[in-house]
Amino acid sequence: MTAADVAIVGGGAMGWSTAFWLMRRDPALRVAVVERDPSHAQAATALSVASIRQQFTCRINVKISRFGIDFLRNFEAYAAGASGVASLGLREQGYLFLAGSQAGAEVLRMAAAMQRAEGAATEVLAPDDLAVRFPWLAVGDVALASFGPRDEGWFDNMGLLAGLRGAAMAAGAESRRGEVVAVMVGHGAAHGVRLADGSEIAAGAVVLAAGTGVTPLLAGLGEESPVEPRKRTVFVIDAPEARHPRAPLMVDHGGFYLRPEGDHWITATVPDADGPCAPGDFEPDLAQFEELIWPRLHARAPVFAAVKVLRAWAGHYDFNRLDANALVGRWPGWPNLYALTGFSGHGLQQAPAMGRGMAELLTAGRFETLDLSELAPDRLHTGARVREKAVV
Ligand SMILES: Cc1cc2nc3c(=O)[nH]c(=O)nc-3n(C[C@H](O)[C@H](O)[C@H](O)COP(=O)(O)OP(=O)(O)OC[C@H]3O[C@@H](n4cnc5c(N)ncnc54)[C@H](O)[C@@H]3O)c2cc1C
Repeated sequence: MTAADVAIVGGGAMGWSTAFWLMRRDPALRVAVVERDPSHAQAATALSVASIRQQFTCRINVKISRFGIDFLRNFEAYAAGASGVASLGLREQGYLFLAGSQAGAEVLRMAAAMQRAEGAATEVLAPDDLAVRFPWLAVGDVALASFGPRDEGWFDNMGLLAGLRGAAMAAGAESRRGEVVAVMVGHGAAHGVRLADGSEIAAGAVVLAAGTGVTPLLAGLGEESPVEPRKRTVFVIDAPEARHPRAPLMVDHGGFYLRPEGDHWITATVPDADGPCAPGDFEPDLAQFEELIWPRLHARAPVFAAVKVLRAWAGHYDFNRLDANALVGRWPGWPNLYALTGFSGHGLQQAPAMGRGMAELLTAGRFETLDLSELAPDRLHTGARVREKAVV
């Protein structure tokens, strides 16, 4: 049996961000990150659309992204110590949210005021302004739009992961390959993890940062988790008439999103009958493009008349069916068992703040910089909800 102060289950962005911040706080800590698949073939971090926005309806998510953009922008400085870390290729082209009803417009208006109060640059655009700013869009059915001209865009997801891992390992964190099959417990507390090969890591604290894989591990302890896998298919398309490389990431009230990707575009939708999928189902739903996305996309932007799908992939959101927001903190009833999951499609941009918060909780017993306590798993029992309306 090996021993660690902290055993982290899951070597995606959350697991390695937690290790990164732990090592920054205390280089003497023994931190082990256990990952079952170092190729990250099914990890959300690798399958992400890798975008960051300030436009959330929950204030706490705006605060998290205020730090997220600072971290991404200054990544080389933060990750100093990791070899080969370059900039993350951040493209700050903004998010553009469209609303198609007066109710939707009111949500955008109120959210924009709150975001600006937190330091974001969100602008509210009437349809006429929208048509001037983005003349390639048909705006006849748009009631209002909101646009973030800075602090929003997309970046290199695997660069972020590699940098966090590299810096954490350079500072002494251990990377362990293996599947955790159980959290070891005794006297009402966690005391380590057991791997599929029978080996064990004894630990003073266990952090479950395994995305959708947190739910079966909690089930093994008799604990119910509201986090379930929801499949999302992402399409890369070529549209020869649509050359708008400076376009923002547009979230259309018709139910799809679109952003540039080099000379091409990325697009995806939420399936009409959304619900949990089988944990092993990573088969792209190819029909979604023809049936759901293209008619809406073409109606919004006639320059997308001719389109070719170049490739598609499917990934899983770790969806929190309670309120579509993160669960971060101590699991109720367990003194040294922590969860970091439930990101519901907006976790990559949250990894810097979440890992920092988790490291504070583990070493100081409380959040010191940004108070994330409203996102604690306690709310499963208290009935409190932090419902995020801007889930993309
Ligand atoms: C299609 C798609 C688009 C997205 N777009 C965005 C976006 O634009 N912006 C944004 O901010 N977020 C986005 N997200 C969400 C974001 O990618 C995730 O919230 C984030 O990457 C979660 O990181 P994680 O480390 O918690 O999970 P993961 O990256 O899934 O990592 C968890 C790791 O745990 C490992 N694991 C699981 N169980 C075990 C076990 N028992 N033992 C050992 N290891 C285990 C897995 O192999 C995996 O590598 C998107 C997600 C998807 C699927």
